[in-house]
Amino acid sequence: MATKSHPITIILNGTLIDGSGEEAITNEAIVISGNRIQSVGKLPEDINLEDLENNQVINAADKWIMPGLIDAHTHLSYGHPKLKGEARGRGTTRPELNTLRAAWNAQKALRAGVTSISVPGGSWFTDVAVRDAINLGLIEGPRIACASRMIATYGSIEDEDPSWVGTPDHSLGKLCHNATEMVTEVRRQAKHGVDFIKLADSRSGDTQCLSRNEMTAVVEEAQRRNLRVAIHSRGAGSTRDAALAGVDWIIHADLATEEDLETVAKENVRIMPTATFVERLLTWGREVGQDVVQINLNRIEERMEKMAKMLEKLRTLGITVLCGTDSGNYEWMPYGELHANEPDILVRYGGYSTMEAILATTRNNAYTLGLEDQLGVIKKGMLADIIILDQDPVSDISVLKKGEHLVNVIKDGRIISWDGKTIERDLLPLNPSLLSERSAT
Ligand SMILES: [Zn+2]
Repeated sequence: MATKSHPITIILNGTLIDGSGEEAITNEAIVISGNRIQSVGKLPEDINLEDLENNQVINAADKWIMPGLIDAHTHLSYGHPKLKGEARGRGTTRPELNTLRAAWNAQKALRAGVTSISVPGGSWFTDVAVRDAINLGLIEGPRIACASRMIATYGSIEDEDPSWVGTPDHSLGKLCHNATEMVTEVRRQAKHGVDFIKLADSRSGDTQCLSRNEMTAVVEEAQRRNLRVAIHSRGAGSTRDAALAGVDWIIHADLATEEDLETVAKENVRIMPTATFVERLLTWGREVGQDVVQINLNRIEERMEKMAKMLEKLRTLGITVLCGTDSGNYEWMPYGELHANEPDILVRYGGYSTMEAILATTRNNAYTLGLEDQLGVIKKGMLADIIILDQDPVSDISVLKKGEHLVNVIKDGRIISWDGKTIERDLLPLNPSLLSERSAT
């Protein structure tokens, strides 16, 4: 993977899906200066296309241009692929290897057109390290916002060991016994540079593990530290309490009642269903068989049906849906493969329009990076994270999957290139037909 930087990048022609919700339009030029979009629409008169010393030009004629994808639920530090004999336990006892592995996996996401990821939970401060290395330009990768170990209590997801063992440091959860301990952990994680806090209610949602008071204490401390809070919450009580405690987004919420969801809507809290994980579990489970999965697949099928109904309900209630896939959670949730499955599911199961699904995985998701007014929309002044596709995602949302229809990925104003897919192939040498082509659009 390599990058090339020019002071000015110009994307000429193409159909623009700007991520604002406006209909796709034929566009003349997008001008990128540094890592920001300088203009959209007419080519500014002061741009000289013949000055290839200072300008690089992408011809996007017959192509579709849209904001880079954001997967707001990707775990980099869960550690796949594993070494032979490496412990299968959640978290890792090999933080050094795992950090390198996480950096590599982050690049797979970027190559699939995912220019940003939000990481709701991980071991050690691996994700913080990968984020910082990318921001420093040491390695290539997507924009990252991350949490660290999930704040758990007895019975929470990631409190998997017997109580006499506790939750070891290498695990994905941080066991806390009361609000004071939770606040201390928020402070510790803030000190180590996380972007947000992840709370952990029960894995299956059948019992509520965290009280509203504890959630409120965490939210208040996080706000003091300028951090947002997300929660793994499937159940009814925890989802309602999370909304009332002012948690910023709720992951799953699939067992919440209609009444609970109305509370979520009233409190203007976002929901990230993460249906991709459930659908993938089902398809993978059917592939390899019940014995390998060791989960009753009929129950997963029911869960997917319920999920579909919930997606419809969220849409009816006007709750902002965030797109997350849980990529990296298991080896059968591979990086770079599933990031665009969630918008596809919103369309197939939830009755969302393709444009609504595109917004969910671009503009809406920018919120999880704390960049809701700077990222996810292609307009003047926004961060220049852009993908160019050879097929129309508004006609068929599935063309976003696996990066199979990508022509270019631009992150932070730089064209990303890798393997055989070099920027030179897509960059235009000065070509007289270019100008006539441009004026024809
Ligand atoms: Zn997850």
